[in-house]
Amino acid sequence: MKIQTNFNLKNHNTFGINAVADRFVTMESPDDYEDLMRSGLLHDGPFLVLGAGSNVILPDHYHGTVVHPVHRNIRQIVVDRNCNFIEASAGTPWSFFVDYCIANEWYGLENLAGIPGTVGAAPVQNVGAYGIEAKDVIESVHYFDLLTGQQCWIKNDACQFGYRHSIFKTELANRVIVDRVRFHLAKGFTPQLGYKALAAAVDQRGVVAPTARQVADTVVALRNSKLPDPASIGSAGSFFKNPVVPSGKYHELRLQFPDVVAFPVGDGKEVKLAAGWLIEHCGWKGRSMGNVGVYDKQALVLVNRGGCTGSEVRQLAQAIINDVKNKFDVALDCEAIFV
Ligand SMILES: Cc1cc2nc3c(=O)[nH]c(=O)nc-3n(C[C@H](O)[C@H](O)[C@H](O)COP(=O)(O)OP(=O)(O)OC[C@H]3O[C@@H](n4cnc5c(N)ncnc54)[C@H](O)[C@@H]3O)c2cc1C
Repeated sequence: MKIQTNFNLKNHNTFGINAVADRFVTMESPDDYEDLMRSGLLHDGPFLVLGAGSNVILPDHYHGTVVHPVHRNIRQIVVDRNCNFIEASAGTPWSFFVDYCIANEWYGLENLAGIPGTVGAAPVQNVGAYGIEAKDVIESVHYFDLLTGQQCWIKNDACQFGYRHSIFKTELANRVIVDRVRFHLAKGFTPQLGYKALAAAVDQRGVVAPTARQVADTVVALRNSKLPDPASIGSAGSFFKNPVVPSGKYHELRLQFPDVVAFPVGDGKEVKLAAGWLIEHCGWKGRSMGNVGVYDKQALVLVNRGGCTGSEVRQLAQAIINDVKNKFDVALDCEAIFV
């Protein structure tokens, strides 16, 4: 493992916040976990596990230790009659992993193509896009418990996966490092086109039976048309979760706002409202507050207009939350994580 002090994190978060950490520990192999435990660093203030920093809003100064797993590996564990079991290390870039699986004819990840970040963070937020979530393909997760020194496999059904949620954000938050994730991937390809916009985009390509690569390419093209590229505009992707409300509340809203955008969830008792629509209809799309703003192509995304700080992001997020509450009586929740 490599320890650096007073480390600048600007290139380690996609929002591009110019943050500094007291210590930055690069974990190059799973053997480093024991060295980290023995080092005593974790008793010297708080610690933060940082992947690619694509879902975090950092403070100007992190007074603690940032632990950054970079070990990459993808291997096939077992092939059973119906599926392949594939294991990937925490530091493997998610996008690379998806492409690698498609190239090897291991299927199920196509709709999750192009999501920034690392494999180790995917179970934490239960990443999702175009009708698929990581929980649909994760078999189990291996982690190191930095409080007890133990390592453990946790099965999918014990991970408490929900909408951008898992046990790694509650009971296991601030105490474990996910070190590798095991996936069950199908042997044959079945396109998952339940998400209307994806089905329409595939259709537009004029292919009747799309390949996994074609579906993934369509997903990436759709993403690029809506989301800023972190290489040129700092962001954390969708900043807010789409709020889930009782269907009664949705019908009430529709009386006043007939074009409110929503999607049914579960057994129809609840509805997911499009947070971007709510924010846009509070007049925030394209507006700025200090050095942070609301993306002009998608109101769900907050962007760095140049040199923004974590507290500026927090202020804008709070102003938006307040306006949505006042106008629609709906509580917005952040998807991005404030450190
Ligand atoms: C342009 C853009 C588009 C995006 N699109 C999507 C999308 O479509 N769907 C979606 O779900 N998300 C999306 N995101 C959010 C983000 O890509 C995901 O949440 C991703 O999984 C974060 O990975 P990361 O490695 O960058 O994690 P980080 O941002 O570094 O960390 C996120 C959280 O996970 C924890 N963590 C990270 N690694 C580990 C580990 N090994 N062990 C334990 N905890 C860990 C961190 O402590 C933190 O709490 C997008 C982000 C951007 C910038």
